[in-house]
Amino acid sequence: MEINIQNLIRKNILDLKPYSSARDEFEGENGIFLDANENPFGELNRYPDPYQRKIKQKLSTINQIAAEHIFLGNGSDEVIDLAFRIFCEPGKDKVLTFSPTYGMYEVSANINNVELIDMALNNDFQIDLETLKPYLNDANLKIIFICSPNNPTGNSIKTVDYILENFKGIVFIDEAYIDFSPEESFRNQIKNYPNIIVSQTFSKAWGMASVRVGIAYASEEIIKFYNKVKPPYNISQPNQNAILKILDDDHIKLVSENINLILSEKKNLIQSLRPLDLVKKIYPSDTNFILMEVENADGIYQKLVEENVIVRNRNSVIKNCLRITVGSPEENKKLIETLRKIKF
Ligand SMILES: *Cc1c(COP(=O)(O)O)cnc(C)c1O
Repeated sequence: MEINIQNLIRKNILDLKPYSSARDEFEGENGIFLDANENPFGELNRYPDPYQRKIKQKLSTINQIAAEHIFLGNGSDEVIDLAFRIFCEPGKDKVLTFSPTYGMYEVSANINNVELIDMALNNDFQIDLETLKPYLNDANLKIIFICSPNNPTGNSIKTVDYILENFKGIVFIDEAYIDFSPEESFRNQIKNYPNIIVSQTFSKAWGMASVRVGIAYASEEIIKFYNKVKPPYNISQPNQNAILKILDDDHIKLVSENINLILSEKKNLIQSLRPLDLVKKIYPSDTNFILMEVENADGIYQKLVEENVIVRNRNSVIKNCLRITVGSPEENKKLIETLRKIKF
């Protein structure tokens, strides 16, 4: 399948002359820096590296992917928003999502005034290809968002390959939860598909939600456009330093131990939840959360809040479903004890 990325880019972005910062025009580290109107005094007085080269170098080594295939955003939210700005002409182009899913695709579509086609997942929370097929040839459909494993349903999506083989627009795969999943990342497919954007994050398995760093893996061409449209200094130096600190072997080992602990806690949690009368169904999960159907989601949510246990009430999205993040062993114990006490 012939895919031309240039043809997918908005004309104003193709023609855009990007902002050139002081750090773009002189890249060396030695010298006295009188070029950026920075204050000469202080510790946080200098602008950060606009391209976060040290982080990308480490990610490149860890994942065996060249740094030219990596973009870092101020959270995945920036990675998502920039995709709209690069590819979608407001009032003309469209994107497609499979619901229920992560809310930011729709919010970003609305902010950017881009039409969103919202297709329901089937009863197993999988994509219905027959419903999707007629849309795949629409030239104004620029991006298909696939969240896998999906939030809030927790399952992995099985038909990503079919979409990659049959869609010429951008396939945006949100892998925020991939480190909890037994499935392989599509990050390893960016060489085979020039139109794929794989989005990951430091917010979940890496435990760095407060520093707001999201990752996009894609073809060099797509990454170039990301760099063209991003705010010049989109990740602060304290935040870059915080990420650099955790990208060493010792910490990576700790992260992987924490993932295993969370996964074993998830198993225990499911075992304790199943026998409870108020639990109707627990959905399969490749993530660090559990989606469960209960008798009365609004009521149970409220009672949990009264006991200072906060879960996510998804009743408005999937009837009578609560989404529960796997916590520490003590937190999970408190959740179960509280649920056991609830009477209606
Ligand atoms: C939590 C989450 C993210 C992470 O967003 P950040 O902005 O990187 O914190 C992205 N996608 C999905 C589906 C999520 O659930």
